[in-house]
Amino acid sequence: MKGTKSAVLVLSLLAVIGLSACVGSNETKTKSSIELPQGHVLVADQIAFNKAMENAQPGQTIVLANGVWEDFEMLVQGKGTKESPIGVSAQTEGEVILSGLSNLSLYGEHLVVSGLVFKDGYSPTGSVISFRKSGDKLANHSRVTRTVIDNFSNPDKFSSDNWVAMYGRYNRFDHNHLEGKSNAGVTMAVRLNSVASQENYHQIDHNYFGPRPILGSNGGETLRVGTSKYSLSNSFTVVENNYFDRANGEVEIISNKSGSNTFRNNTFFESRGTLTLRHGNGNLVEGNVFLGNGKDHTGGIRVINADQTIRNNYMEGLTGIRFGGGFVVLNGVPNSRINRYHQVKNTVIENNTLVNLSNINLAAGSDAERTAVPIDSAFKNNLVVSEGEQPFKIFDDVSGITFSGNLTNADMPEQIASGFVKQAIKVERAATGLLVNTEAASKGVGASLTLRPIDKNKTGVSWYPKDTQLVEFSSGNEVTVDSPQGLVDAVANANAGDVIKLVAGEYEMVKPLIVDTTVTIMGSGEKAAVVYPMRTLLAEISDGGSLKLHNLVIDGEKAPDAAGNVLVRNTRLPTLKNYRLSFDNVIVRNLNVNHSAHVFDAGYRSMADRITITDSVFENITGDILRLNKEQDDLGIYNLEYLTISNSQFKDIQGAVAKIYRGGTDESTFGPHVFVENSRFENIAKGKRNKHQASFYLHGAQDTDLLNNEFVDLMPIIIEHTVGEPQTLVANNSFIDVELPKVTEVFTKGDSTAVLRNNTVKGSK
Ligand code: CA
Repeated sequence: MKGTKSAVLVLSLLAVIGLSACVGSNETKTKSSIELPQGHVLVADQIAFNKAMENAQPGQTIVLANGVWEDFEMLVQGKGTKESPIGVSAQTEGEVILSGLSNLSLYGEHLVVSGLVFKDGYSPTGSVISFRKSGDKLANHSRVTRTVIDNFSNPDKFSSDNWVAMYGRYNRFDHNHLEGKSNAGVTMAVRLNSVASQENYHQIDHNYFGPRPILGSNGGETLRVGTSKYSLSNSFTVVENNYFDRANGEVEIISNKSGSNTFRNNTFFESRGTLTLRHGNGNLVEGNVFLGNGKDHTGGIRVINADQTIRNNYMEGLTGIRFGGGFVVLNGVPNSRINRYHQVKNTVIENNTLVNLSNINLAAGSDAERTAVPIDSAFKNNLVVSEGEQPFKIFDDVSGITFSGNLTNADMPEQIASGFVKQAIKVERAATGLLVNTEAASKGVGASLTLRPIDKNKTGVSWYPKDTQLVEFSSGNEVTVDSPQGLVDAVANANAGDVIKLVAGEYEMVKPLIVDTTVTIMGSGEKAAVVYPMRTLLAEISDGGSLKLHNLVIDGEKAPDAAGNVLVRNTRLPTLKNYRLSFDNVIVRNLNVNHSAHVFDAGYRSMADRITITDSVFENITGDILRLNKEQDDLGIYNLEYLTISNSQFKDIQGAVAKIYRGGTDESTFGPHVFVENSRFENIAKGKRNKHQASFYLHGAQDTDLLNNEFVDLMPIIIEHTVGEPQTLVANNSFIDVELPKVTEVFTKGDSTAVLRNNTVKGSK
């Protein structure tokens, strides 16, 4: 019986190899076929794969031939055994590429998939890798390992999906590399939506969760375990030894929404947001390392709910504020609905080291709804070291947290000071890379000396690089051009980081520049290159483009006599990639041939990481300078993270300097941030088409600083605070013939929280 079966297998193996030999290189295929171990079947196309899968027996591995597998929705199904799983692997790990409309689902028992790369495409369904075939056809005891998902994002940014959806029980996801998710939706989700997926004992380990850009909306979490609806169920998922590298999507890096999970020994490197114990009880968070390096909005752990244990974690250089702080304990809602905030109780926070955190927030979120203060909890034997101001901010009664045995070098607030010994503390950088104080450690205070962050190189796979960096402006090659067509061609042919230098002279631009990579366009000599837009548009930033204009004059006097000319805009299609735009030492003048000529017009569903205007002059313009108000659906989506205007002059502008809109009540995002300093604004926003009658209209900006500016004879600055405790500081400005900025609170009652100080006001208004 056994002999017969083997014979059949050999025959089908030969048939499959025969088929595959017709495709691709004979030499490689033959060579690998010979080397294939017993029970391995090499397949080279989808038909062969499906046939092999149908016949797959325990112990068998289906090997995908190297090459690009396009539009492949791979279903791995069958019943392996613990000793003899059914495998799917790559002929060579990293050389089997799934592209186009592809995905993977698993259904059955003891299945193991390894060595694949998903890139150059996206999943046509709700996930790239799913541990189920359909509603109740789940995978159990199965594993996906050494697999890469790289920028496999749905091009429709707000078409939400998950790259990995774990269902079933006892599954493992390990040593995978996930990077560059740019569309909405949690990168990886553990689902508990049926009994068959609860108490699942999944293992998520040694994965590299690479850079995830700022989404500018809710739905940018990197890992979520559970959902609020099932959050009182236990998951028993272990998340350990993973590396989170610049996981910046939104305020939750990890959103835990179930019970009895373990988060152990993960490293969070320069990642915005926090590991959030959002719902569910009885979770353990230990041995994790958070390294913020002072980067904006880097956070640590946010604690909510009951019976949580947070011990032996290390946090350093985290700048996060409010809910995104370095360490945060939230207030709950009395008798909370399942999707609000359950009270913190019976929670232990011990032996953590917290070094140079900007904010440790206790009873955070205290308001008319969140009144249930933490109870029956302990904060003990922690080491809190601060070079600057002491980090604690206390928002309500914290007498339900017992403080004891903690050590600090800072002046603690009165309510908690008795739980700390204050003394000078010298910390040194140990071989582990972490700051330690051996004396404290010997007394059992702070994190253990043996705590060692998981090394990036021990996560993911060795054959796929983990070095993605943003390409800076002017980091590439330089080309010099001397004609308009030369400029058009140079922009079209540019590589990321390139600089295109215009020799002195006049450039009448009859074709728009299409910017699809990171490009700097600069004049040589002191503003000796003058660019004349001859059409309704000078430059379009398409998906993946970023533009810096430097040392130029742009003069609109020869532009067509049409309403609504635009100097620079995004492509009209929604874009997936965030972009940067910079005007540095640029004069923009005479955009006034007809009405409503704008300098920059953002696209619907576009997101600027950063727009900067430095040392520049804008004058005689009939439209707006920056239009970043395209997301009017009030979903918390917006068009810009950071705007900086500095050392610049604006005069005779009929529209607004900036219109920025982040509508709705969502609190999962960081921006927009607006910084305006050392600049002068005169005769702004008086055009009759400027409907807000405002020189700046900022709705929902989170952080606005107006410092050391001169405002002369212009329509008022209107700032509308929405949710998220927005910060506005207006200081050291001079206002001449203009009223002070109007700051209103849209959702909260009472006076505005804006700080206006040291401003001088002169003139008739
Ligand atoms: Ca969220």
